[in-house]
Amino acid sequence: MSKEIPYKIYLEEKEIPRYWYNVRADMQNKPAPLLNPATGKPMTLDELSGVFCRELAMQELNVTDTYIEIPEEISSFYKMYRPSPLVRAYCLEKALDTPAHIYYKFEGNNTSGSHKLNSAIAQAYYAKKQGLKGVTTETGAGQWGTALSMACAYFGLDCKVFMVKVSYEQKPFRREVMRTYGASVTPSPSMETEVGRKINAEFPGTTGSLGCAISEAVEAAVSTDGYRYVLGSVLSQVLLHQTVIGLETKTALDKYGIKADMIIGCAGGGSNLGGLISPFVGEMLRGEADYEIIAVEPASCPSLTRGKYIYDFCDTGKVCPLAKMYTLGSGFIPAPNHAGGLRYHGMSSVVSQLYDDGLIHARTAKQTEVFEAAQQFAKTEGILPAPESSHAIKVAIDEAIKCKETGEEKNIVFGLTGTGYFDMYAYKQFNDGTMTNYVPSDEEIAASLKNCPKI
Ligand SMILES: *Cc1c(COP(=O)(O)O)cnc(C)c1O
Repeated sequence: MSKEIPYKIYLEEKEIPRYWYNVRADMQNKPAPLLNPATGKPMTLDELSGVFCRELAMQELNVTDTYIEIPEEISSFYKMYRPSPLVRAYCLEKALDTPAHIYYKFEGNNTSGSHKLNSAIAQAYYAKKQGLKGVTTETGAGQWGTALSMACAYFGLDCKVFMVKVSYEQKPFRREVMRTYGASVTPSPSMETEVGRKINAEFPGTTGSLGCAISEAVEAAVSTDGYRYVLGSVLSQVLLHQTVIGLETKTALDKYGIKADMIIGCAGGGSNLGGLISPFVGEMLRGEADYEIIAVEPASCPSLTRGKYIYDFCDTGKVCPLAKMYTLGSGFIPAPNHAGGLRYHGMSSVVSQLYDDGLIHARTAKQTEVFEAAQQFAKTEGILPAPESSHAIKVAIDEAIKCKETGEEKNIVFGLTGTGYFDMYAYKQFNDGTMTNYVPSDEEIAASLKNCPKI
């Protein structure tokens, strides 16, 4: 008989991973390289180093080293809030009356309220090590900006955040958290950058988008001495840092001899999902085990399920390198869905390639059904989930209900990426019954994809 499984499987401090796992090393079909938009050739280390910190640029290009050591300074910071618990959702299982065993890896146990701190601290560390003065970035919903502000405060770096205007106005408390950690926060599009002024002139009164804020942050970084740009998802380096989630999950499961049947994660830019699944995908790639892996995206921003696998711009201003990914087109402006962290038009090139190779599956969920799942989870498990995370909850619940019908005792593991305390405006709409479900038409997506570069 297996050991009785506790509500929370905690690991010891010494079980925090000491290496990140680079799944690209085990992939037969490597993700396509980033291209220089000017030359159409793969970005070189020197070119990438103009935008990103050098060591991070090296990680971005590294498709051969299976393990990359986590520096001591980052490990020390991880110890403040890791290992994060893997929770057996006994109460949810009971409410669903399912024979399935549901587990979630909870990443909301830090002030940023999400997994994003795992990469923010790594990126701030490498910036500091390189002797930089500061970093710039964009933030949509605000979790990434908050995480980066915390990380920069820890290492004494300047942090300049371009925050999508609509969030800046709707989420004043997020903004104040960032400012408390010492960051400067500018609503985007702003008049501080050339690209911001251009977008403001072209679309007067626009409330901004993530792609546009990225363009501003990149411009601010490359035009200010001693600054580099950092990004909270999408890039392979970010996915690499997020593998602490999957590595800890695997250690915790192994401790109790639990074999996951199904692994579910929400997918915005793909870094949390990629980080959660990497060690498991690694086993699949090496032929050691099999898992059913499901990426969940909003029906309003369906890059994997309805996008195309092509080279595209990563930002509206078209200043970033080109990435081959599942994309809806860089000009795609998703409807004002409340899962701000899932509103990006593209998808991590690693996740895109794994999906294209059939190693992972994808599903969409509509906004109101996501909030229904969020509410059910909050009522049973106590945690008020982020709208983004609730996409994974929704599919985990669906699958657990299927198990009830088939009588299967599946082990379902999902990533609970964060808490939703700053999303109460969204919860209010849900509670008031005024929340809508926008799904883009085929024509809308086709029109947006027309503007992708021809490569
Ligand atoms: C940013 C964010 C996401 C999206 O993560 P990706 O790694 O970009 O897919 C999901 N959940 C929460 C709580 C977030 O803050």
